[in-house]
Amino acid sequence: MQFRDLQQQYCVLKDEIDSEINKVLSDTNFISGLQVTMLEEKLARYVNVKHCITCGNGTDALTLALMAWEIGPGDAVFVPDFTFFASAETVALAGAMPIFVDIDRRTFNISPSSLKKAIEYTLKDGKYCPKAIIAVDMFGQPADYIQIKKIAEAYNLFILEDGAQGFGGMIKNQRACSFGDISTTSFFPAKPLGCYGDGGAVFTDNDHWAEVIRSLRIHGKGTDKYDNIRIGMNSRLDTLQAAVLMVKLKAFECYELHDINEIAKRYTTELSNIVTTPYIINGFESSWAQYTILVDDLNQRTELMEFLVKKNIPTMIYYPKGMNQQKAFNNNKYTVVETSVSAELCNRVLSLPIHPYLSNENQEYIIQAITSFFK
Ligand SMILES: *Cc1c(COP(=O)(O)O)cnc(C)c1O
Repeated sequence: MQFRDLQQQYCVLKDEIDSEINKVLSDTNFISGLQVTMLEEKLARYVNVKHCITCGNGTDALTLALMAWEIGPGDAVFVPDFTFFASAETVALAGAMPIFVDIDRRTFNISPSSLKKAIEYTLKDGKYCPKAIIAVDMFGQPADYIQIKKIAEAYNLFILEDGAQGFGGMIKNQRACSFGDISTTSFFPAKPLGCYGDGGAVFTDNDHWAEVIRSLRIHGKGTDKYDNIRIGMNSRLDTLQAAVLMVKLKAFECYELHDINEIAKRYTTELSNIVTTPYIINGFESSWAQYTILVDDLNQRTELMEFLVKKNIPTMIYYPKGMNQQKAFNNNKYTVVETSVSAELCNRVLSLPIHPYLSNENQEYIIQAITSFFK
């Protein structure tokens, strides 16, 4: 059994994907081909945002947003302690100070009350100037943008939505990757919408930032690549990846997002009496980048994982430690609030196999195995 079965997805979509790839091969328009622009238009329409700018990966997408806002030395950016390293790494790479904020124990997303405390402390301390909040749509559920927007407005901060795991999620009828002043996503193969290599995108309604980011992703280009008006980077989505993504986006819209939600519902129905199952806020929808349960403690998790491995059921720990615990941040750590919820949950999380092609039989087998462990 696979944790996220990309082979099965390819089997289903093979004819269409192969034919789209072959078209790119025979056209040899590998960089900035027509498919890239077509994909950007489709993605912008799906998310309902004015501009979509694709790029090399989800990490670059975050960097491009920070560069467009000219965030750098002396600036503070608030980041959840419980996230993938890139959410905080890009802040440090820009020369700014990532300030780690605790998470809500039910949703794994940034805690609005901890965020407010961190901003207040930073302002009082006066060492760094608060500029932006990076809100992560952890495991596929949008962060609490209703609360986050109020805080951002009160303190005049930008919201950067890290939707690397959140593409396809919703609050009421609004799609993820539209909640930030700038939002980003990743097309890493295992994300909700993945390509066959690295890929990413930036979304915004703001014309000026969109223009700056379009320039930044191609060496700070002006009228063309050989007219350079700012220092940028080389971060484009390959035409081949755009071609793959157009086929996959169609499947994602037509049935994948629906199917994965059915699978998540079934896990929750069968497991909620035994372990803590994911909590989705009323009116919110997840795209289930992960299905993450909580067990009692570290020992129980180790035992459960070993038990499941023997039954050929792969599980993953997202994430084993918070940003505060990462060696890379030891030298430039600036701690202003406790991140105890994040630290606790790092010892209790366990992500189960989930993807739109998980069969009833396999899911039943996983549920039975977990049930028998707790009996
Ligand atoms: C995957 C991920 C990223 C980085 O995306 P890449 O395409 O791998 O660079 C950033 N933030 C979060 C929350 C992620 O899960």
